[in-house]
Amino acid sequence: MLPEAGSLWLLKLLRDIQLAQFYWPILEELNVTRPEHFDFVKPEDLDGIGMGRPAQRRLSEALKRLRSGPKSKNWVYKILGGLAPEHKEPTLPSDSPTHLPEPEGGLKCLIPEGAVCRGELLGSGCFGVVHRGLWTLPNGKSVPVAVKSLRVGPEGPMGTELGDFLREVSVMMNLEHPHVLRLHGLVLGQPLQMVMELAPLGSLHARLTASAPTPPLPVSLLCLFLRQLAGAMVYLGARGLVHRDLATRNLLLASPRTIKVADFGLVRPLGGTRGRYVMGGPRPIPYAWCAPESLRHGAFSSASDVWMFGVTLWEMFSGGEEPWAGVPPYLILQRLEDRARLPRPPVCSRALYSLALRCWAPHPADRPSFSHLEGLLQEAWPSEGCCVRDVTEPGALRMETGDPITVIEGSPDSTIWKGQNGRTFKVGSFPASAVTLADAGGLPVTRPVHRGTPARGDQHPGSIDGDRKKANLWDVPPARGQRRNVPLERMKGISRSLESVLSLGPRPTGGGSSPPEIRQARAVPQGPPGLPPRPPLSSSSPQPSQPPRERLPWPKKKPPHNLPMGAPGAGKAAALSGGLLPDPELRRKIMEVELSVHGVTHQECQTALGATGGDVVSAIRNLKVDQLFHLSSRSRADCRRILEHYQWDLSAASRYCPSQALSSASAGTDTSMKSLGP
Ligand code: AMP
Repeated sequence: MLPEAGSLWLLKLLRDIQLAQFYWPILEELNVTRPEHFDFVKPEDLDGIGMGRPAQRRLSEALKRLRSGPKSKNWVYKILGGLAPEHKEPTLPSDSPTHLPEPEGGLKCLIPEGAVCRGELLGSGCFGVVHRGLWTLPNGKSVPVAVKSLRVGPEGPMGTELGDFLREVSVMMNLEHPHVLRLHGLVLGQPLQMVMELAPLGSLHARLTASAPTPPLPVSLLCLFLRQLAGAMVYLGARGLVHRDLATRNLLLASPRTIKVADFGLVRPLGGTRGRYVMGGPRPIPYAWCAPESLRHGAFSSASDVWMFGVTLWEMFSGGEEPWAGVPPYLILQRLEDRARLPRPPVCSRALYSLALRCWAPHPADRPSFSHLEGLLQEAWPSEGCCVRDVTEPGALRMETGDPITVIEGSPDSTIWKGQNGRTFKVGSFPASAVTLADAGGLPVTRPVHRGTPARGDQHPGSIDGDRKKANLWDVPPARGQRRNVPLERMKGISRSLESVLSLGPRPTGGGSSPPEIRQARAVPQGPPGLPPRPPLSSSSPQPSQPPRERLPWPKKKPPHNLPMGAPGAGKAAALSGGLLPDPELRRKIMEVELSVHGVTHQECQTALGATGGDVVSAIRNLKVDQLFHLSSRSRADCRRILEHYQWDLSAASRYCPSQALSSASAGTDTSMKSLGP
């Protein structure tokens, strides 16, 4: 059975009879994923989603035609409603792949398998791998592309992954925006492949975290990216979509000054009049990026995307730092509900930070819309200036005459401003008198002004692309690791957030280096209301037969010497207490295991190694099985099988196994969901 695989045949069927607007209501509200599901749909149900009787008759006729049509043998064609490539392949244009005709039936383009050749691996996502590729058009021209292939298990594709993959295709094929990654077409082969626009510079997150000698991204460029992102989000919102996974890992660099929103695997339609989507079941979500209502109720809306926009802004100005790093997921929600917010990164201006704070308003209705954000960004835009004398004073930002300076903080009354030197990319304070600002017309002014983004008149409509300006200054070299088979930055980000979900307890070594409020939080015995209680300090594991809700999160072993778990130094005490020090070889192994399995304690690593006779690989695997077991409602044997399938990539496996934490966090959502419809 392919539970979610029906979306494309349905979309095609509805498009053929001009009823495509009912695609999402039928899929999401009536839960129709296969033609036979319509047997259970009553006219009143269709009335309920606003479909008139003549339209219902058209639908009924189309269903009859569909059922009497030829049966296809291949599962792919079944999914796509008999849309065979040889019948539907469009005539390709002679040159530009960016002007592909949209064939009837919605798919932008069905691409023959032989027309695409895959090259190096660019990364791997939750349901497939992405390769650089070359697509040969019928006229012989080759176009560089990115090819995402659906991961296929020994028994064919897995339902959830296939469903997500097809959902991403069905969403992307209808999108056309300069800051949204473009889908060129689909290869109906095995595996299924999505052929997408190539973003040659990789993910923004990879660029933000690239190490020296790659310079940091200039503040003004980050503002431009924010503006592009807001524009893309206005576009998605207008099409009734919530992205649900906005983060720098999902922003791809198509050029040094152009980002594109990517990864539409979690995109959902905004349902009904309440303009929100409520998750129907437990699935992993990027915890640290989520709005409180998403964490508590599984509710997503444009306003929760705005929240994520704020977190993405924070990531950008923090150099790709992980939000809420080291804070266990259940505490993130508690802290958000206690009004704690991510701190202002040093290079983020107060104006931009207050914009982020508005995105993090507790009540979704109090957050600005994306179109409002576009205006707010313009107001918070940093001023650009030019250095008029060398600055060499100790402690001041060094600059030479002629250096371009972006003013991050500066008021007419103050004599000291803060800014970024566009030549050295260093940020610091400097005498205001050393910089002359230029207004929009290029005239010098004496105080910071909030200038808008580059004039839009000379740009592609809708595009906020400043590539032609200052390209020499802001050239972005390829991000670290983009050209090699390294774990994808996206998964790195997701993995951090998901592994945070996995490690539902205190971090390993007593928290000596953690902020005090986190250390204090670790001692809190109970999670926030509505979330699973903290596990008792027991080493006993729950049995697989236990019902999922009662299953304990990651079990905590009894801390040695009766130190309460979470007490500062508890973990270290295990290793440092006199006479109990393991030998150097064992210490090395423990460290190896600790580094390989996020969120395990020193003690747990030691125990795991003891159980495997010191075999590091087996210890790591056993701990991962344990983590997945406690995260999901699967048996240990299943968890082991799933992990093997994902080459022991815990975060990929945990995407396949829905998170129990979220299930508990959204307790009550499942039952209330039906009544939350429009
Ligand atoms: P995804 O499965 O969409 O999360 O993609 C996984 C990773 O593959 C991303 O983090 C990117 O690094 C890379 N990637 C995905 N799509 C593209 C693309 N169109 N161009 C370049 N790299 C991509």
